[in-house]
Amino acid sequence: MINPFSKLGISDDVVNAVKELGFENPTPIQEQAIPVLLEGSNDFVGLAQTGTGKTAAFGLPLLELIDFKSNKPQALILCPTRELCLQIANDIRNFSKNTPNASVVAVYGGANIMQQLREIRNGVQIVVATPGRMLDIIGRKAIDFSNVKYVVLDEADEMLNMGFQEDINDILSTTPDEKKTWLFSATMPPEVRRIAKNYMENPTELTMGTKNTGNVNIEHEYYIVKARDKYAALKRIVDYNPDIFGVVFCKTKMDTQDVAEHLIKDGYNADALHGDLSQQQRDKVMQRFRDRNMQLLIATDVAARGIDVNNVTHVINYALPDEIESYTHRSGRTGRAGKTGVSICIINAKETGKIRQIERIIGKQFTKAELPTGFDVCEKQLFGLIHRVHNVEVNEEQIDKYMSRINDEFADLSKEEVIKKFASLEFNRFLEYYQNAPDLNLSADDRFDRGERGERGDRRERGERSGRGAEAGYARLFINVGSVDEFTRGDLLSFVCNHGRISGKAVGKIDLKGVFSFVEVESATAETLMANFKDVQYNGREVRIEMSGDAPRSSNRGGDRGGRGGFGGERRGGFGGERRGGGYGGDRRGGGDRSGSGRRDRGERGERSGGGNSEGAFRDFSGRSREERGGGSGRREGGNGDRRRRS
Ligand code: AMP
Repeated sequence: MINPFSKLGISDDVVNAVKELGFENPTPIQEQAIPVLLEGSNDFVGLAQTGTGKTAAFGLPLLELIDFKSNKPQALILCPTRELCLQIANDIRNFSKNTPNASVVAVYGGANIMQQLREIRNGVQIVVATPGRMLDIIGRKAIDFSNVKYVVLDEADEMLNMGFQEDINDILSTTPDEKKTWLFSATMPPEVRRIAKNYMENPTELTMGTKNTGNVNIEHEYYIVKARDKYAALKRIVDYNPDIFGVVFCKTKMDTQDVAEHLIKDGYNADALHGDLSQQQRDKVMQRFRDRNMQLLIATDVAARGIDVNNVTHVINYALPDEIESYTHRSGRTGRAGKTGVSICIINAKETGKIRQIERIIGKQFTKAELPTGFDVCEKQLFGLIHRVHNVEVNEEQIDKYMSRINDEFADLSKEEVIKKFASLEFNRFLEYYQNAPDLNLSADDRFDRGERGERGDRRERGERSGRGAEAGYARLFINVGSVDEFTRGDLLSFVCNHGRISGKAVGKIDLKGVFSFVEVESATAETLMANFKDVQYNGREVRIEMSGDAPRSSNRGGDRGGRGGFGGERRGGFGGERRGGGYGGDRRGGGDRSGSGRRDRGERGERSGGGNSEGAFRDFSGRSREERGGGSGRREGGNGDRRRRS
């Protein structure tokens, strides 16, 4: 039987390579685009969503059209992000593994340019690049594009969103007029149309519309809540899904940071990914997410493009995208590689119309779901704990030496009593937090009686409590600036003293984190300081300083979630420990990476995650290590990503 890719006109070397990758049949976009592109004589516009097999749709024809006897660049592929750049280059290398002399270079910001220049000098036929770095290399006269025959603009809509229009113009002006341009885009806003019009002659257009293979396994749900309850709803969803491994989409960088900050402060293992981070910072966040050392990635659309992480269980649209077409990109982060996933929208009543529009675009119906009640969450968490206890891997060697003492401690309790107490340890926490929690679903009843109860409930949900965990006589304050703002501890001390108008002597421990920090100040000065901080801004951002508080945390939050090497994963697990000074979440010591498996990158990860467990088993979770751990602010090392990256 003839291989279906051969039927499309692909040569044996390449067919064999894609066979090895497990490609048996072409995807719809490949089936339609490959024969057209193989002719090599037309400009092309493909409206294609993520996960449709787009890379092979243009990559395979390129491999047929390029003269590999020559070592001159003949194809240039421009794409918006480093992640995508690496992915495309890697895919094409795989497709061309049997093609003699084929050479592909990935050119992107934030990495050593010398190495990239060396590769170019050695001779390449295919250049995959992000626009900023490409222009830099062109500026150095280090590349000759006079033989370029094909330019691919991948995710053109995103490149324009990110402000790369001018760079693209400049880059294209260095390529021959006769080249063919192939443009791929998930959406077709007027700016993309304009590119098609300005740079292309009579392009062949193909629309792959809703045939998003990445989306077939995804359930779509929406929850209607009041705007002010959004955050509480997010937490409720997360608490109800103790094993969530999700991406939360916000509209702006600020929102991303804000939601991440709140989650971290409330004890969740989350972090923000947005375009203002340097490439290294983004890499670090992504690496932690990929390694499942982080549970919730809070991202903007642009920053999340090109993220190819398997096993994402939930995509949460904290805000619906402005361009509803972007919904497909977002939801496509889950349900990958044959797995199922859930895409959730938290909306207000006015947005139901948008849900209907999205339904039309994705060709699937949403389920209107009800947020679980507090008791639902408690029950779910309780049994989550029970299952984890049941499945936990016991480190016989390490625990053995404590067993006789542990047994002595329990000598006066029956097995049933021990079980009940272990279960209660976690259950009480959630019960206390949730037993008076309001119904967040926007229902007819809800529109009336929300006064007192609702307000109090909201506060509880936000985990706003008085400071706790500070040294005696000191209050522990949360402030939403940190090393990401290039603060050192000294900078933060001056900042707090200057704006708060307090003496440096009144300041105790300063715990500098990534997007936020904790500062301990003498209790007597706390109120004055907070009052003086009203209306203080930093880099155009409102500075918030408030008593640090805790919210309940699922014992499964944080840390490696058992994905690798038998890590137990629970931050606190059943050993969550005592609560100190009323409040949820108990004390934040305990579990940690309890395996003691010697992760090398703990310092770094913990520094940024806050909610992460990564500082090791007996670190006071809320951030006060015995001695300040230096290093690894995670966000400070330079890194010059592509220019004008925005989100
Ligand atoms: P892309 O849209 O190019 O990012 O591709 C999405 C995913 O589908 C990637 O993991 C590809 O390796 C995979 N893929 C692409 N084409 C095929 C095919 N014909 N058969 C199976 N998997 C494919």
